[in-house]
Amino acid sequence: MKKLICVLTTFLLLLAIAFVPVEAADSFTWSKFDSGYVTIVFDDGRDCTATLARIFTEKNIPLSCAITGKSVVNSVAMVSVLKKIQNHGGEILSHTYSHDAFDENSTLEEIEKEFSMSYNALTNAGFVVNGIIEAGAGGSEKSVNYDLVEQAVKKYYKYSDCYGTSLQYNSVRTYMRGLSLSQLKTKVSRAAQRKEWLILFAHDFSEISQSDLEALLDYINETEGVKGVTYKYMYENFGNYPTKQDFGKTYYTVSYTDKKGTVIEEKVVAAGSYVSSKPSKIPEGTTWSNTEVIVEDNMIISALKGEVISTPSTSNPSTSNPSTSNPSTSNPSTSNPSASNPSASTPTTNQPSDEPQENSNNDKAKDPITLWIVIGIAGVALVVLIIVIIVVCCKNKKMK
Ligand SMILES: [Zn+2]
Repeated sequence: MKKLICVLTTFLLLLAIAFVPVEAADSFTWSKFDSGYVTIVFDDGRDCTATLARIFTEKNIPLSCAITGKSVVNSVAMVSVLKKIQNHGGEILSHTYSHDAFDENSTLEEIEKEFSMSYNALTNAGFVVNGIIEAGAGGSEKSVNYDLVEQAVKKYYKYSDCYGTSLQYNSVRTYMRGLSLSQLKTKVSRAAQRKEWLILFAHDFSEISQSDLEALLDYINETEGVKGVTYKYMYENFGNYPTKQDFGKTYYTVSYTDKKGTVIEEKVVAAGSYVSSKPSKIPEGTTWSNTEVIVEDNMIISALKGEVISTPSTSNPSTSNPSTSNPSTSNPSTSNPSASNPSASTPTTNQPSDEPQENSNNDKAKDPITLWIVIGIAGVALVVLIIVIIVVCCKNKKMK
């Protein structure tokens, strides 16, 4: 009888240990994806960046850019074009401060300096920065102690492509260089079928031609079950962090255009905001028939078209040439007055007068760790109860 109790107790204790999630409390995990996703990243902010911004905006797919801290310091033109990307649902990621690759001799202090300086430079320039992309991949960094790098990276960033060994800091990217358009399309189709996250990257049009890139974006839009998103979107929606994280806002630009496609007004709004269906000043002879619009997360509104009911009066300057009267529609490569003052050009100051409301969806509870702890405690309690019952029963038997 004693032996039987011993075996039973051991079995139940093992069962209890299995129920308690020892690791879950302090490690990052992914939730199952509900669809296929594609993230496209361009590194270094090369000459093609303004063209990339225009293409991705036209195709309604958010662009992710890995940018060094030093490239935004004292570069009004670069900040301006990157701001445009961020204000169309895109994401600016750090790419270290100086782009010098780490090697086996890099100290924790040096690594941390690169991470903190780039974080500060980018956030001071008005960017919402959550992630970092490794600089100099393919060279000396292969000898880096990534456990050491992860200690430094986690102080400033919530995710990375490979600055660490954990799941949180290791999201493998696929280099587009050398891949044909049909090979890229196959990868997109596979991501859709398997509900996987495909991350593609390149540096400029020497690695993927502009026409291939445009065709690829069209293919992503045409393919069922796959969406173009940012890193932020994936980590915010599917990443399970040990503690709740604040990823900052995602901004979208709502453009009001007349029937000819001329931009009347542009507004930068946070995801989840309520946006008026009409521009603040409706040009003479134009009527706006759209109902109220909600900018949902990951949904980019490029145009709310107004109907021209009669020929606009030529004396109205806002309809004769709206682009000159609206600085936000000017060419991003030319100097943008708002960009010279980063704090004044942060999206929050561009908010429309009809105060956008925060989406309550952002507060949605997603804390599986708490759930696991509850399950664990319940499991232990159950086991203890069973043991007590057995012991009491045995004692009763002995007494008899
Ligand atoms: Zn680079």
